[in-house]
Amino acid sequence: MYINTKGLVLREARYREADRILTLYTEDCGKITVSAHGALSKRSRISAPTQSLTYSDFVLDYRKGIYSVKEASVAEYFNGLRADIGKYSLACYFCEAVDVLCIDETPDKNMLRTVLNALYALSNDMYSPEQIKAAFELKLISAAGFQPDTGSCFVCGSEEPEEPVFGIENGVICCRKCCNSSMGISMEIGDNVLKAMRYIISSNIKNYISFKLPKEDIITLSQACEAFFLRHTGRNFNSLEYWKTVN
Ligand SMILES: [Zn+2]
Repeated sequence: MYINTKGLVLREARYREADRILTLYTEDCGKITVSAHGALSKRSRISAPTQSLTYSDFVLDYRKGIYSVKEASVAEYFNGLRADIGKYSLACYFCEAVDVLCIDETPDKNMLRTVLNALYALSNDMYSPEQIKAAFELKLISAAGFQPDTGSCFVCGSEEPEEPVFGIENGVICCRKCCNSSMGISMEIGDNVLKAMRYIISSNIKNYISFKLPKEDIITLSQACEAFFLRHTGRNFNSLEYWKTVN
C-alpha cells in the first residue's frame, strides 16, 4: 500500500552501508519509523528529503507493518538552521521534545504545526532564539494536555493578580500576597510575562510566537516556560543542554 503524506524528519540514523532509519512525524500517520534504502548513496534522490530537520513530501510504501520511503521531495529545508550550531542544536531540541511528547502513530496537526512554525521562525531569525524556545515549550506542552491555568489567582480569584507568581509544579498563578506552600516550586514572573504566557496559550498556531516583550522579560519567560516544560516531561534533554553550552 502506498501512502502520500508530508512529514518532518525528527531523527535519522545510519543503517547498513547506505541506508537511513528515520523517525518521521507525519501529517497523516503521526510518528512512525521509516527505512530509507540507499539514502546515503552518492546519487540518491532521497538524500536531502530524508535529512534531520527537513520537512518533505513522501510516498511511503507500507508492507507487513513496515514503512519505507518510495519517493520523497523537500518541502522545506530550513536552510538557516544548518550553518549555525546554536540554531541547529535548538532545532534538535524542538524535534526531541516532539518525539517525547507525541503519541506513536497518532496524527496531531496542532503539534506538527507548532514545531514547524518554531523551526521556520528560528531558521529565518524572525525572533530571538529565547523567545521562540519559550513560546514553543509552552505551546507544545499545552498541546500535549498540560496547559497551565493562567486565567486568575488560584487563591483569591483575581483575574489580574498583583505581582503574579507562577507555580511550576501545578501550573497555576497567584498574587504574591496570596502565595502559600500549596504553590510548590514557583517563581515571580511579573505582569508582562503573564500577559505573554496568556497570549501564547490562547493565540492560534500561526501567530503564537509573534509578540513583543522587553529583553529582561524574555529571560524570565524563557526560565518559566522551560522549568514548566521540563517538570511536566519529567526528563532532561541532551540537545537542550548542548544548546546552553554553545549559547
Ligand atoms: Zn490573589
